[in-house]
Amino acid sequence: MDPQIIDYYNEMPSEINVIDKMNEELTDLQKQKDELENKYKEYIEKHRKITYDMPKIRLNTLDELKVYGKKIHDSHGIFHKIIYDFLEHKEWILEYDRPDGATTNILGYAKCGYWDTLEIDTLKWDDTTADEFYYGYAEEDGWRGEYNIYLKCKILDELYKLFPEYENREYGWFQKELDRCFQDIENILVTIITRTSGGSIMWQLYDIIYQSIMEQLFGWGEETGDFDPDAGFSRGGIFPGIYDNSDYIQNIIYYQCDKCNKYTVGEDAMGNHDECDRRWYIQGDDSEVCKCKCNA
Ligand SMILES: [Zn+2]
Repeated sequence: MDPQIIDYYNEMPSEINVIDKMNEELTDLQKQKDELENKYKEYIEKHRKITYDMPKIRLNTLDELKVYGKKIHDSHGIFHKIIYDFLEHKEWILEYDRPDGATTNILGYAKCGYWDTLEIDTLKWDDTTADEFYYGYAEEDGWRGEYNIYLKCKILDELYKLFPEYENREYGWFQKELDRCFQDIENILVTIITRTSGGSIMWQLYDIIYQSIMEQLFGWGEETGDFDPDAGFSRGGIFPGIYDNSDYIQNIIYYQCDKCNKYTVGEDAMGNHDECDRRWYIQGDDSEVCKCKCNA
């Protein structure tokens, strides 16, 4: 390139200045990239556990499995009360912070216990906060979320009591299951309500929410429900007849034979199950195997 007049006044030809400028910009970009990379590393560190394994509690005998299974089965009345009390905004929920009336949302107006009311202030939970109890840590710049975190906390607290051997208090499988289920409930109900302008579904919201949560925790199926002659079909019910060792909370507990390594899970200790129907499995394979006869 021929020298330009401007180069006469500059100590360096203009190309050099451009290169300096580019280098400067490159340094800035490099700095920004480093900052982003650090942020990314921090994020990964914080969210390292992307999969949350289902807790598993091994019991020593089949009798223990039966007793523990009965305890899980009989707990469904407690969950029923917790969910309906929250939706009706009575009993246990009255002991906690009141919902922020200014931020009521669709499910709040639908009288579902202020479900999606947005809370800007941190909510108290016994001697800690609801978000700290539920997530296992407090957000640095404060928590902002929905009033239904109280229902999540109450259910989680009950699950911790039901499985005292499970001592992890960080965000885990229980929270993952509840978060997924609560998000689905909200998405579906808000869509239906806005599409139908409410209408007759408003009378069934509590039952739909109850069934959705119980289905996530214990399973829900046709097989157990009594036939409803008015409706002309079975409404189904909690604890379905066929579980197939699915990820339900009754399958947290299991008994495994030391000799043949076959194992059996809590689902067969549920109300409608007979001991002779007990199913056995081998690790790494969900298909059923023949009964362990080591101690027969
Ligand atoms: Zn065996």
